[in-house]
Amino acid sequence: MARLTPVSGFVLAFAGTMGLWATQAAANDELLKIQDDPKQWVMPLGNYSSNRYSGLDQINRDNVGDLQVAWTFSTGVLRGHEGGPLVIGNMMYVHAPFPNTVFALDLSKGGQIVWKYEPQQDPNVIPVMCCDTVNRGVAYGDGKIFLHQADTKLVALDAKTGKEVWSAMDGDATKGETGTSAPLVVKDKVLIGNSGGEFGVLGKVTAYNMSDGKIAWRAFSAGPDDQIKVDPEKTTALGKPVGKDSSLKTWEGDQWKIGGGTTWGWMSYDPELNLVYYGTGNPSTWNPAQRPGDNKYSMTIFARDADTGMAKWLYQMTPHDEWDYDGVNEMILADQQVNGQDRKLLVHFDRNGFGYTLDRDTGELLVAEKYDPAVNWATKIDLKTGLPDRVKEFSTEANGEDVNTTNICPAALGSKDQQPSAYSPKTGLFYVPTNHVCMDYEPFKVAYTAGQPYVGATLSMYPPKGEDHLGNFIAWDATTGKIKWSLPEPFSVWSGALATAGDVVFYGTLEGYLKAVDAETGKELYRFKTPSGIIGNVNTYEYDGKQYIAVLSGVGGWAGIGMAAGLTEDTAGLGAVGAYKALSSYTALGGTMTVFALPE
Ligand code: CA
Repeated sequence: MARLTPVSGFVLAFAGTMGLWATQAAANDELLKIQDDPKQWVMPLGNYSSNRYSGLDQINRDNVGDLQVAWTFSTGVLRGHEGGPLVIGNMMYVHAPFPNTVFALDLSKGGQIVWKYEPQQDPNVIPVMCCDTVNRGVAYGDGKIFLHQADTKLVALDAKTGKEVWSAMDGDATKGETGTSAPLVVKDKVLIGNSGGEFGVLGKVTAYNMSDGKIAWRAFSAGPDDQIKVDPEKTTALGKPVGKDSSLKTWEGDQWKIGGGTTWGWMSYDPELNLVYYGTGNPSTWNPAQRPGDNKYSMTIFARDADTGMAKWLYQMTPHDEWDYDGVNEMILADQQVNGQDRKLLVHFDRNGFGYTLDRDTGELLVAEKYDPAVNWATKIDLKTGLPDRVKEFSTEANGEDVNTTNICPAALGSKDQQPSAYSPKTGLFYVPTNHVCMDYEPFKVAYTAGQPYVGATLSMYPPKGEDHLGNFIAWDATTGKIKWSLPEPFSVWSGALATAGDVVFYGTLEGYLKAVDAETGKELYRFKTPSGIIGNVNTYEYDGKQYIAVLSGVGGWAGIGMAAGLTEDTAGLGAVGAYKALSSYTALGGTMTVFALPE
């Protein structure tokens, strides 16, 4: 594909913001401005609060049933398509899984390709990607599109031409470190995390200068205080200073160096508090007997100063994990009343099956309740200590190595995985795509070899006992920790939700349906079968006076790894293949974006 000259409409759309591009720090002002314009979709999760809510209401509960396909676009890539497109001015930016092709489409010309970027990457990265070759999207800032490639390289592309401005190699794919997450642009920096918790990779978040790609700060998930950017006196956990060597003390010997805590999920940002929020993944290995201690700071929510990276507060949800309940899911920032008090909240639906509501300024734990009634590994979370009350029967450590612990709920892929939720300030509800899956888990001793899987457990997955569906789409009240309604789905809902001012909530299903439901009642209002299973996130934008809904289909991801990677053993794909076998009767591979609109 030859690079085409940008069309004049694009230049015009950006002319008004050119002045802001001149200074780096002001890029944040530009993003703050664009994120408040519902016509555009400027960040993967819609805005810094990650609420995936749009103020557009042209499509509403009364007319959503009339939606039609406006246009479609094939990415030419067969494996799982997570994430979704960005819309800035008259341009749409679409990404694909490995080889991480990026397309810039001109909405004023019916989606004509303005430029296409296809990085050259060593295909040896494919076998070290645990859960399909997914990528969760690009980011925008300062006239650049930022791509976090599978091989960990961060690339800055000129948004108008697709020309590479700079690149920085973030990690070492030969050791199993990969890139799957979307970057977050904050002020003059672009932040990325890493993947590879199943290969003994140590988690980290790195902030790069947006102007030149140089590292501004880097914070690891485990190790000495200076390396994890934790101040023993000032950084708090549930209101108390963490103290000296708070991570090192929770590991035996040097295990922390291959201890995981990768940061492959979503990040949020509160501009007033100047705090960045994200979570860390599982401690390595999956065999808990090989890593005595709390394994801090795996499975932890971090609130870090955006300028320096220093942690203000942190909270470890699942100390000494025994189930691979990565803590990386999205952090939704919302302002609501809890117990009659106005609060700046952070709401997080963890893999471990609990929905957490915290004060995002102080890190105080306000609510922690099960968002899937099937969850059985713990009975409750103590709000004072923050600790889960574990059930011994489902402890893979208590039962010992080479013992198969059965009927643990949720399964390793959690009551929810990367599929981001939505929050509507209109209804005050959170809309959560969930997995309703349990598992058998048998840990075994494993030796570490750089670049080789460092898992040490055999798993199989299935629906909860006596049930036959693997997913639910729920509405959740985060101020009380209660499910308002729950829609059963035959498979996990692995797609990101969208809530709109039109009182409609959208999500995709693994069989390939785009569904629209009433935000108050959950009543289904519309469904359309797209070309492949949906693990992408539903986005919306307005162009030329018309509201559109856009979603990537393309089955795969952890839940669809059997189809995406051609695996057939039930325990393959870290235990997911058996549970989702029936999926191949409903859909087939292939990445396509489908764009919907109301008829003229
Ligand atoms: Ca993991």
